[in-house]
Amino acid sequence: MAITWIDGAAFSFHNQRVFVRVDFNVPLEQKDGQIVVADDERIRAALPTLKLLLDKGARLILASHLGRPKGRDPDQSLLPVADRLQAHLDRDVIFADDCVGDGVKKLAHDLKPGQVLLLENLRFHSGEEKNDDGFARQLAELADVYVNDAFGAAHRAHASTAGIAAFVPKKAGGLLLKKETETLYGLLKSPRKPFVAIVGGAKVSDKIGVLQKLLGKVDTVLIGGAMAYTFLAARGFAVGISRIEADKMVLAKSIMDAATQRGVRILLPLDHVTATEFKEGATPTVCDTIADDQMGLDIGPGTRAAYAAALKDAGTVLWNGPMGVFEWPNYAKGTRAVAEAVATCGAFTVVGGGDSVAALNDLGLANQISHVSTGGGASLELLEGQKLPGLLALGYEF
Ligand code: AMP
Repeated sequence: MAITWIDGAAFSFHNQRVFVRVDFNVPLEQKDGQIVVADDERIRAALPTLKLLLDKGARLILASHLGRPKGRDPDQSLLPVADRLQAHLDRDVIFADDCVGDGVKKLAHDLKPGQVLLLENLRFHSGEEKNDDGFARQLAELADVYVNDAFGAAHRAHASTAGIAAFVPKKAGGLLLKKETETLYGLLKSPRKPFVAIVGGAKVSDKIGVLQKLLGKVDTVLIGGAMAYTFLAARGFAVGISRIEADKMVLAKSIMDAATQRGVRILLPLDHVTATEFKEGATPTVCDTIADDQMGLDIGPGTRAAYAAALKDAGTVLWNGPMGVFEWPNYAKGTRAVAEAVATCGAFTVVGGGDSVAALNDLGLANQISHVSTGGGASLELLEGQKLPGLLALGYEF
């Protein structure tokens, strides 16, 4: 069975109670003594699906997780999300203080076409992450139709992203899930060449799967962040006290050998911004060779220029992970330079991962990116070739 997307569904949404799994896992902050949404990008990303379903006369029941609560935790309530969503939809959003139980059932039952009910954090119940059948069944009982639009959670086999699908008569994928899936698989199927991947961040181990898969697709890989030092160490360069994964050096070497065989260029940092300690205020030093008492915390100016030059003629660019400790201004220049180069290179550009997206947002460049993925982990797993449970549950044919 192939997947049904909501804009091509053969069944009607009119007057139906539609359970929409959204990704409202947004950052919260304290403002004037109240907890409010700090960044509503994920809420805005769900709006096309919600508006389409409302236009079709659906009765909407929305569910999401937020954070990693251990049981009920008022600090991780979705209530602030209800306020923000209300403003975006320009209609009342009814908030349920739980996601299952008789009270919620009544609220769902009483909904009228065009009304919106937002359920409390799914992770207040341990059955969500356990993909517990009983919990999934309770969620399913609220609705006639199940829609998953939570791309950011599609790599998790949880009750609301996977289990529930077995207990509802009709199911479909939302517009965000569709856009993310089609764009990312499109990258693997028919990328405009040259295809340049930029991979950064803390660990080689997190990105190894995607690097291996991408070697068969890309022309050039630019590596930055802490993971670059594992690659440099594997090549025999001095890395001082940089954060490396010694047990991943053999793997890094095998990736570089495989790249050479396939004619894929792997570029590593040529120069660095280093410090003697991992501390925000640590004095930055620019160098070509890392001294024994120094650690690399960002790519240097020569590398920034080399990476920007490698992006100039790109047809397709995929970027995931910062080039340095971008949270600290002294070590943010590499990530910012890459963000600028990606945004202005004229290629089809796809950026995933919270940190890369945050860097683009800081610079006001996100709107110059062809596709900003709402799911860092999910996009990596999809690109690695894994079958995402959220897509499998909807009948997606891989
Ligand atoms: P990831 O979640 O794997 O994308 O890693 C992001 C984290 O990697 C950020 O918090 C960065 O501060 C950190 N990071 C990037 N470059 C370095 C580096 N050279 N040394 C230590 N941490 C780094």
